Amino acid sequence: MSGPIVVDSVAALRAQIRDWRREGLTVAMVPTMGALHDGHISLVRIALEKAERCVVSIFVNPAQFAPTEDLDKYPRQLARDLDRLRETGAHLAFTPTVAEMYPAGFATKISIGGPSAGLETDFRPAFFDGVAIVVTKLFLQAAPDCAVFGEKDYQQLCVVRQLCRDLDLPVDIIGGPTVRDSHGLAMSSRNAYLGEAELDIARKLNAVLRQTATELASGADEASATGEAAEALVRAGFRKVDYVAAREAVTLRPWRGDRDGRLLAAAWLGTTRLIDNVEILPAPE
Ligand code: AMP
Repeated sequence: MSGPIVVDSVAALRAQIRDWRREGLTVAMVPTMGALHDGHISLVRIALEKAERCVVSIFVNPAQFAPTEDLDKYPRQLARDLDRLRETGAHLAFTPTVAEMYPAGFATKISIGGPSAGLETDFRPAFFDGVAIVVTKLFLQAAPDCAVFGEKDYQQLCVVRQLCRDLDLPVDIIGGPTVRDSHGLAMSSRNAYLGEAELDIARKLNAVLRQTATELASGADEASATGEAAEALVRAGFRKVDYVAAREAVTLRPWRGDRDGRLLAAAWLGTTRLIDNVEILPAPE
């Protein structure tokens, strides 16, 4: 099987997509920062089911990293990523440079509200504005019919939906389920930072969240259940817990127990920050 077409300029991306459009083909997009794992690949598979052509962007977006974060050490492995995309059947990899996405003099910001309030934003204040600018650019560059984002980054998925609604970006946003290892750990490019002992601890995050979501679904008090979850994570070996919080599944406003919820968490293992989330499904009356 031949590999994906690889383009690194917006002009070449547009030219290829124009050709596909002339042939009447539909286009799905999967934005990524590369270091592709089975989670990303599952989104590519969904994209291939939803449209006739699949574009995967690979771009480590500096706008969503704070100066203290891991931009420089974030894993980059383009050759391996392209192999995986070839195996999966993706049609095009868009691999722009920072200068292509943010040429000298770039001066536009997007400030996004709604579901971006709290959770990640309390700890990474500029993160979603950085996500919003890059996603908006990618959508304007590729003009896909639909784009697939992982539930792994649940708040991000809600923020991207809000962005498309607010800016009339005509892109159907599809959420893909979180892909986990056999111990329940959500796959993440950042798991590559973890040693064996840390992986053992990391694998407790999902178990604690599932247990807490079950308690919440059966009516447990939210403050005490989430507080106990944070304590359990520290006991398991996490250095610090940024948050464990129950939110309404769509708006991400505080969960009131009467509709579908989502339990979200972020916690530190050494210098690595992990996030995860699970559904809270209240038992039917
Ligand atoms: P990233 O490369 O981390 O920016 O992620 C690119 C896309 O892959 C985002 O939509 C993520 O939510 C999604 N993703 C990352 N990890 C997983 C996973 N374990 N399962 C499903 N989707 C994922």
